[in-house]
Amino acid sequence: MRVAIERSINPLLPEPVNRYRIDTDGMVAYVDAGLEPLPEGTLVLVTHYHWDHTYGLAASRGLRVCMPPQTLESLSYERALEGVRSLLEAVGYGDLVSHAEPYVELYKRIEDSLPRHRVYGLDECPLEGVEALHCPGHSGDHHCYIIGDSVFLGDNYVPYTTSTTLTSPLDYMESMHKVLAASWSTAYPGHGDPSGRRGLVEWLNRVSRRKLARMLEVSLRLGGGASLKDLLHRMYPQAGGATLFLAARNLVGYIRALEDLGLVRVDRGVSPWVVEPA
Ligand SMILES: [Zn+2]
Repeated sequence: MRVAIERSINPLLPEPVNRYRIDTDGMVAYVDAGLEPLPEGTLVLVTHYHWDHTYGLAASRGLRVCMPPQTLESLSYERALEGVRSLLEAVGYGDLVSHAEPYVELYKRIEDSLPRHRVYGLDECPLEGVEALHCPGHSGDHHCYIIGDSVFLGDNYVPYTTSTTLTSPLDYMESMHKVLAASWSTAYPGHGDPSGRRGLVEWLNRVSRRKLARMLEVSLRLGGGASLKDLLHRMYPQAGGATLFLAARNLVGYIRALEDLGLVRVDRGVSPWVVEPA
């Protein structure tokens, strides 16, 4: 089996995104669609719905696309808009939702392209020998794929940064535990360069330390209670524009983890949400 990395860039992306061309027994398949067109008939396995991994669908026609139902449902303009709106409302910036239009618009194009492709669920995917692991953490629908001695981790592995965005740090740690228990020797990330097992483990150690430290910091900065808007600015003093959205995504993830641990109570009936120590 041969694996080749194809990278694309876009002004909305801080770093190039990877997609992988896999040649195995005379069969060619891709993990993720990236941003550029793919030849008609190409088989694509999708790790998660984020546009930088799926926009290649909008740029192509006649692909065979394998993804779980959660990913398919998320490739929707309405869902993307609703996701941005509820996140911005949680941090008290619901009035900024129209600023997300250029980004949400991409999901419209991806959604419109779906009828031009043949979409398969993971259990009916025509590519043999793929083990799919549900790996929520970076996004709820995220799947990791083991093919031969390679594991394709999508954005659950972004080796050049430890501030990788997570919608759920606790789910993430459980997912990566599952990945490490599986058998493989090369880990392929959603952005950046592949590594062996040791490279992934060292990075996961750094990420876990950072995410736990950030959860602790959220709980310290919360004091006797605060709105999520105040907490956002205490945690991310520089946040604005697109980084406001990413900061909000991380913060809501930390709050959910602290809530799951029984450490905070959250009032979601108001905008911004109000968080108090439990
Ligand atoms: Zn992503």
